[in-house]
Amino acid sequence: MKITDHIKNASSTLFSFEMIPPVKGKSIQELYDNIDPLMEFKPPFVDVTTSREEFLYLKKAGGLLEKRLTRMRPGTLGICASIQNRYQVDTVPHLLCGGFTQQETEYLLVDCQYLEIDNVMALRGDARTEEKRFECTDGGHNYAIDLVRQISEMNRGNYLHEVIEISCNVDFCIGVAGYPEKHDESPSMKTDLKRLKDKVDAGADYVVTQMFFDNQKYFEFVRLAREMGITVPIIPGIKPVAIKQHLQLLPQTFHLDIPEDLVDAVENCASNKDVRQVGVEFCIEQCRELLAHNVPVLHFYSMGKSDNIYDIAKAIF
Ligand code: FAD
Repeated sequence: MKITDHIKNASSTLFSFEMIPPVKGKSIQELYDNIDPLMEFKPPFVDVTTSREEFLYLKKAGGLLEKRLTRMRPGTLGICASIQNRYQVDTVPHLLCGGFTQQETEYLLVDCQYLEIDNVMALRGDARTEEKRFECTDGGHNYAIDLVRQISEMNRGNYLHEVIEISCNVDFCIGVAGYPEKHDESPSMKTDLKRLKDKVDAGADYVVTQMFFDNQKYFEFVRLAREMGITVPIIPGIKPVAIKQHLQLLPQTFHLDIPEDLVDAVENCASNKDVRQVGVEFCIEQCRELLAHNVPVLHFYSMGKSDNIYDIAKAIF
């Protein structure tokens, strides 16, 4: 079922979360162990991220290094299928421009069709670590909007190969990313919002935001988006602070501000166990305010670990 239909049919705010595929060679069991407790809160859907390919440097005899391109966390679609089978929930695979040709994207979408996956997140992906800026993959897409266009065209029966006969239409519900604190490469908030509007006009059905810690930024983002004519659901993305290093890592990686009171509380913690508790308590308050504003879904970034999300969901759902 489409995310937009889950939202339409819901009488109150829904709970959902995002999981990361395990590193190649590791068991999927840890992922299930983290999902199992969260099923108590009846998530209608679970997102599964896709990671970019990265260069690995393998040591060779004589001290030489061999550079190899590899994807360390493959398996997004397989994990989506196994989550759907195991828990009877919808799953949302993340599709990236970076690292995929348009042809490969089409094959992934055909797999989604066969696996009865109705929703996909269309994302550009970040630059690879050794790149200064995002570089388009040969035969791939430059921006998420191009991916949205490809999926929308497929929804209309237009595949990349023009001479196939269509007897079974696909109808993917398309999610895209939005940034309450602006995407770091955008020259201004207004430009960023215009590009979000372009993604919606190209066929995106809903938006999931980057994580934020200051609800006012989300409320203002939604206000500006509505003013610009974006009418689709805007789902807030939530991440509880869990370790002291998050004070540096999260702003550095996701280009966001952490409110002073949260920074002070984390800095005063003697251990990461205390930080986790501070993060949970802050997040419960944050979620309560979002619930009071009738947000469609509270979507949690688990980064693979769910124990703190369980505590938060238990307090608010
Ligand atoms: P876009 O919408 O393409 O925007 C990227 C930048 O280009 C923005 O600054 C935008 O303003 C600008 N831009 C857009 N169109 C144009 C244009 N025509 N001309 C000039 N500039 C333009 N990353 C992963 O690698 N894997 C994941 O699974 C993943 N999941 C995510 C889930 C969510 C909910 C979010 C918010 C992010 C996720 N990301 C993921 C991170 C995301 O890939 C990065 O934030 C990336 O830098 C931008 O992706 P986007 O889809 O927003 O790109």
